[in-house]
Amino acid sequence: MPQWTFPIKSEDLTNQERLTSEYGVFGHKRSYYYHQGIDIYVTGKSRVFAAEDGIVVAIEDFTGGPGEEHWLYTQAVLVEGASGVLNYGEVKPVRGLEVGSYLRRGMHLANVSPVLPPEKARPDIMGHSTHMLHFEWYETGTRESVRWNHEDPYPSNLKDPTVPLTSAWELRNSVELDKTLTVREFLAWRGVVTPCPSCAGMGTMLYGSTSTWRGGLGGAAMTYDVCRVCWGTGDANRKGTDLEKVTELLESTKG
Ligand SMILES: [Zn+2]
Ligand SMILES: [Zn+2]
Repeated sequence: MPQWTFPIKSEDLTNQERLTSEYGVFGHKRSYYYHQGIDIYVTGKSRVFAAEDGIVVAIEDFTGGPGEEHWLYTQAVLVEGASGVLNYGEVKPVRGLEVGSYLRRGMHLANVSPVLPPEKARPDIMGHSTHMLHFEWYETGTRESVRWNHEDPYPSNLKDPTVPLTSAWELRNSVELDKTLTVREFLAWRGVVTPCPSCAGMGTMLYGSTSTWRGGLGGAAMTYDVCRVCWGTGDANRKGTDLEKVTELLESTKG
């Protein structure tokens, strides 16, 4: 079972007694779909922290799209890590967060964004709030969230996060979230003054195939490797060793 850090500070939860309500559980049957995640109700625009290390693989428009009058506009951040892809939904990502950004466990990645207008609050549901983190879990390789409609089969890449999230919730008070870093602080910590435009200062980037900067015929899988513009420093004005040149040099001395 993955060991996640609970993504919300305990003091921001509307209900200390339970992880969610009977309405916010995974698989709850709604009007047109089954609930693909778990709702963590919070008091306001609370900060959301990475539950494990990972790389941002997508930032989506999530709720409140054209024709969706029930919900307000929110976004979602999909992060791939050791346990698969975690989707932090119904949020507004922090400034500077992009696809390819590297997140350490406990880093501040987003703030909860209201998904319902105040008049749609449900005082009849214990702990319910118009602000919630909608948390989903997918298989590795997922690059967009799914919709699990009534007539659809169970989405093959969707996982039930109830057990590991409940475990993280139970341990939430013992986890030190105060030492969190924003992306900006993370870059400062790495000594990045002018973030590399190619990798946003992270030093790694997502390549379209397994050949990455190494060239040649690559496999079809998207692959993270060192950034070929800054060569890993993350700084546009302070480049690392050009691995392409080193490789060429090695090849030429072999001949
Ligand atoms: Zn939800
Ligand atoms: Zn770079």
